Amino acid sequence: MIIEAKEISKIYGSDENKVVALNKVNLAIASSDFMSIMGPSGSGKSTLLHILSGLDKPTSGNLFYDGKEIYSFSDKELSVFRRQKIGFIFQQFNLLPVLTAKENIIMPLLLDKKQPNETYLKRLTDLLGISDRLTHLPHELSGGQQQRVAIARALIAEPDIIFADEPTGNLDSKSGSEVMEMLKNIQHKMGKTLVIITHDNRIATMADRQFVIVDGVLSEVTAK
Ligand code: ADP
Ligand code: ADP
Repeated sequence: MIIEAKEISKIYGSDENKVVALNKVNLAIASSDFMSIMGPSGSGKSTLLHILSGLDKPTSGNLFYDGKEIYSFSDKELSVFRRQKIGFIFQQFNLLPVLTAKENIIMPLLLDKKQPNETYLKRLTDLLGISDRLTHLPHELSGGQQQRVAIARALIAEPDIIFADEPTGNLDSKSGSEVMEMLKNIQHKMGKTLVIITHDNRIATMADRQFVIVDGVLSEVTAK
């Protein structure tokens, strides 16, 4: 899966109130890339993530997944595409409090009327160190464990690409580092594409490709 963003701009408001959230962003993401995007608050990180994942449309520019312009998809095609190809991890873990860890993890499949592959589920939860926590409710788990459940949920439908928006933002530095190590390990073992948004330099430098965004202008800091 190759993602290409070409000259993507996003402008909010009009005339005097105009905010250029993204300014002609160009980006090519290859399969198995692990990239981070770092930038201060208000620099355009969330806007970029929303556009790259098809949640929002740019004011101008194009976005291609494997050469296909995704804005040419119908809303239905786009939502199927997003469910099958993209996994999300959020700062707030967004687990449903009345469901067990396992029920939370397999929820995306159930919504698609699919059954989990138990072998894959086992492999995933073993890699994340939560196999013995599957019958627990979210409030019975530490923050780090809750985020690991959320990571398993993001991966259960076997998407090609994971977008993580400040995945360690709600964790202390020790559990944040643990979660990042696990995410990196899974990315490596499963060959997933991982895009992490962060304002934490220690998290950003774990990625193979590091980008910074300032006032909507994206630049690559390092390339492997
Ligand atoms: P970040 O995620 O880096 O904090 P955002 O992408 O949320 O940055 O925001 C980039 C800029 O766009 C900011 O100036 C923000 O105020 C503005 N912005 C974001 N969303 C909207 C919106 N829905 N309407 C108007 N301005 C917005
Ligand atoms: P970690 O460092 O792995 O994120 P913690 O040190 O915070 O975990 O928690 C240690 C253990 O205590 C965990 O195995 C977790 O299951 C349990 N635990 C943490 N918070 C709660 C809670 N609110 N209720 C019940 N058990 C909890």
